Amino acid sequence: MPTPTQTSDDAFAEVKSKVDLVKVVSEHVRLTKRNKDYWGLCPFHQEDSPSFHVNPQRQSWYCFGCERKGDVFTFVELIEKTDKRGALQMLAERAGVELKKLSPEQKERADLRKRILDMLKLAARYYEYVLWETPAGEPGRKLLESRRVSEETARWFQLGHAPAGRGFAEYLRAKKRSLLDAQEAGLMRRDGTDFFAERLVIPIRDERGQTLAFTARTVRQDEPRKYINSPETAAYIKGRVVYGLDLARDEIARRGHAVLMEGQFDVITAHQFGVANAVASSGTALTDDQVRLLKRFTDELFLVFDADRAGREATRKAAVLAANHAMRTRVVVVPGAKDPDEFLRSAGPDAAGRWDELVSKAPSGFEAGMDEDAAGLNPSKPNQVELVAGRLRDWIRQFPTGMHESYAEAAERHTGISRHLLLEDPEPKPVRQQPNGSGRRAAARKLTASAYLVQLLAVRPSAFDQVRTKIVAEELDADNRPLFVRMLESYERGGPAGLEADLAVYPSEEQDLIRRAWAAPPPNVDDEVAVELADRIRLEHMKGMHSGIIRELSEAERGRDSDRVVRLEAEARELARAIKDMERRGERSRA
Ligand SMILES: [Zn+2]
Repeated sequence: MPTPTQTSDDAFAEVKSKVDLVKVVSEHVRLTKRNKDYWGLCPFHQEDSPSFHVNPQRQSWYCFGCERKGDVFTFVELIEKTDKRGALQMLAERAGVELKKLSPEQKERADLRKRILDMLKLAARYYEYVLWETPAGEPGRKLLESRRVSEETARWFQLGHAPAGRGFAEYLRAKKRSLLDAQEAGLMRRDGTDFFAERLVIPIRDERGQTLAFTARTVRQDEPRKYINSPETAAYIKGRVVYGLDLARDEIARRGHAVLMEGQFDVITAHQFGVANAVASSGTALTDDQVRLLKRFTDELFLVFDADRAGREATRKAAVLAANHAMRTRVVVVPGAKDPDEFLRSAGPDAAGRWDELVSKAPSGFEAGMDEDAAGLNPSKPNQVELVAGRLRDWIRQFPTGMHESYAEAAERHTGISRHLLLEDPEPKPVRQQPNGSGRRAAARKLTASAYLVQLLAVRPSAFDQVRTKIVAEELDADNRPLFVRMLESYERGGPAGLEADLAVYPSEEQDLIRRAWAAPPPNVDDEVAVELADRIRLEHMKGMHSGIIRELSEAERGRDSDRVVRLEAEARELARAIKDMERRGERSRA
């Protein structure tokens, strides 16, 4: 029944009178009461100390940091990334106010979102019912049993089972619900088959407990795709949700930190064994949005990722990302297990105690990376010291500038490498090689061929085997000649380890040059490049000689010294031919 009587202003006023700004804001921001007002970290800009202020009397908010301000509508508009009408719609629903007017598009979008959310809620209930109450749920129950997930825990996370075939479609038909909505929600294919068929289904809920999507693990042995996820919909954007946060938020507040794990099953097991502040970044590597979301609940993250290479990389990225949002991190390594799930299950009844033990000795995110970078360092090997110093410099530099001093100090204590070396700006790194080779050329242009070759040989002395028969020291630039000769001697005396052994007796500026090359090697350190460089150096040298002979020749002509002219002409011809040959060979080998 179209009744366009209620004006917008009336609607805004009515909704505003029925919702409480403090309540709405606290669903997104941890608010602390000070006198009559509330303070928290602004959800609209990055900050470390609260400048977001809510005045409950006036039902208004103001951020002293980014100077955004407004009422409950502006707040919802910004936080839900909607417009004024969208905010009105959301708040009206919450306040139970019926709205008469909405633009058709807004109404459509709001409706779609609502229908999807309803459908997801219904699906979660249906899957849960199938899992526990029907024979079709057997494979799901077996999977949970094999993972030793109790029914109580499974119900807490509302796990379910999607049976084979079109069970959900039949269920919807029986309930006279729209199959189209189920398709929009990413639950069903066009032909009515269940998107998650034959899978254990895990609802992905937002921090308020609303199901936004599912991730589902196959129960079949022969299915190559272990996990599949809901597509993005009007209700779900990947990388914005933190899995388990709705169930973990109270324990996070109590303990003062969150435990960030890799997988949903890690989180589920963790809660079962009493680690009830565990969450996971769902479906993606940790994102900026997820860190901002977590930051509303705590300032400290314990990172518990797999012990493999990918896990270590993810840990480093998370530590840096968190630091950029002024969050502290610590890294928990589970001993003797491939993931926390395995560790907690094998610890059995002692799990909570053994977990607390691990947590109490967890190093900070920075320290964990530093330990890794400095592992196996032998301080008496100068090239190792340089390599480790280079890695640590890179690691420190990833963190916000304000932390560099104290991190360099910590690294000095840990490794004995001077903090000045860890903070200094090293030479600008040579451009990395592009697939088409232009990077190599660009880098080589900045660096003379001689300097490039000397650096390459410092890093890879064994390349002398290829190079020493191709060029002689005189062909190098005068600047690089002495070092080339010294390194060649070291190599002939001591083999590939000779350079390291002799380094201490080199002139100090040569030592510096070698150490810099160790810390920041030139691009493409291999024998092939060494040979290419040697050829180029030889060619340049020959061209230089050729111009010299030509100069001499004109002098001889002016002096009418015919013998000399003849000799020089022959030399010049021969050299020109050799240059041409060499250039032709070079083109062939490059082609
Ligand atoms: Zn702000």
